[in-house]
Amino acid sequence: MEKIHLSELSTFGIGGPAKAFKRAETIEEMQSFLKACHENKTPFLIVGKGSNTLFDKRGFNGLVIHNKIGFLKNLEPGVWHVGAGYSFALLGTKTAQAGYTGLEFASGIPASVGGAVFMNAGANGMETEAALESVDFVDETGELNKLHRKDLEFRYRYSQFHKMKGAIVGATFRLKSCESARKKQIEIIRYRTQTQPYGEKSAGCIFRNPEGVSAGRLIEEAGLKGTSLGGAKVSEKHANFIVNDKEATTEEVLELIEKVKQRVYETHKVNLESEVRIIPYDPVC
Ligand SMILES: Cc1cc2nc3c(=O)[nH]c(=O)nc-3n(C[C@H](O)[C@H](O)[C@H](O)COP(=O)(O)OP(=O)(O)OC[C@H]3O[C@@H](n4cnc5c(N)ncnc54)[C@H](O)[C@@H]3O)c2cc1C
Repeated sequence: MEKIHLSELSTFGIGGPAKAFKRAETIEEMQSFLKACHENKTPFLIVGKGSNTLFDKRGFNGLVIHNKIGFLKNLEPGVWHVGAGYSFALLGTKTAQAGYTGLEFASGIPASVGGAVFMNAGANGMETEAALESVDFVDETGELNKLHRKDLEFRYRYSQFHKMKGAIVGATFRLKSCESARKKQIEIIRYRTQTQPYGEKSAGCIFRNPEGVSAGRLIEEAGLKGTSLGGAKVSEKHANFIVNDKEATTEEVLELIEKVKQRVYETHKVNLESEVRIIPYDPVC
């Protein structure tokens, strides 16, 4: 069986070994892996692009399934059926290039389509769920279901999938024709590269924005930009990013998260909540 260090699957570049590892390139493979986990009572973890995850230094005590289901089909004008392992950023670029609005914000978000649906990724006042028509989901027994958007719950950086055991394997998006989509998408990507620490190892925004205020602003006002703890550092460019500056460990990132929370509470009396998914070594059943 293939061995993998989870740092290789994470944009943070942090994490220990997976006890077991599989790569799912087709829906059928995902079904057979989940069915086997169910029968053998093996805990599993689905990983997309690893751009919102902080792994434990001991790794994961179960099967890690890397979702690489990467098909893209243009079903009709404005409607795309896409594999959950497909690059969300590329989907945003391709749909905007084709003259459709709804996913321009995706270019620049280093997610898989499955991870973007799971997290209800969003930016620039847009969210994944708004463009979504349906989701293909393999449940923990290996059965494939098509779930319609109207039957699913989404909120800010939350989807019903947080409570469901299984894997998102595909999604259908319905977008509207718009002449300026490509122009908007180029502006978004230009702004992102100017304001976010691209090229550095991070997991994007560490904290959720509290109601009506930007977490980054609160952190900056608390004087924390550039604060380091071991190899982990609050980005100089965007205060809501923690970057793996010098071979940071999981503990250093977690300690820095606590330090930021504490200081922001002392300064603003606001409790910050983590947006990044902290994956425990022993899966919570
Ligand atoms: C530089 C940078 C910029 C970012 N900018 C943004 C932004 O603007 N807006 C935003 O919302 N986020 C942003 N992020 C965060 C991140 O890209 C999103 O949260 C994204 O949706 C995570 O997708 P992923 O494929 O990397 O998920 P992963 O990190 O691989 O997984 C995240 C969670 O989803 C689960 N999961 C992943 N795929 C599946 C699946 N197929 N089925 C079931 N569960 C699954 C995992 O188990 C895990 O719990 C940014 C990150 C970086 C590094």
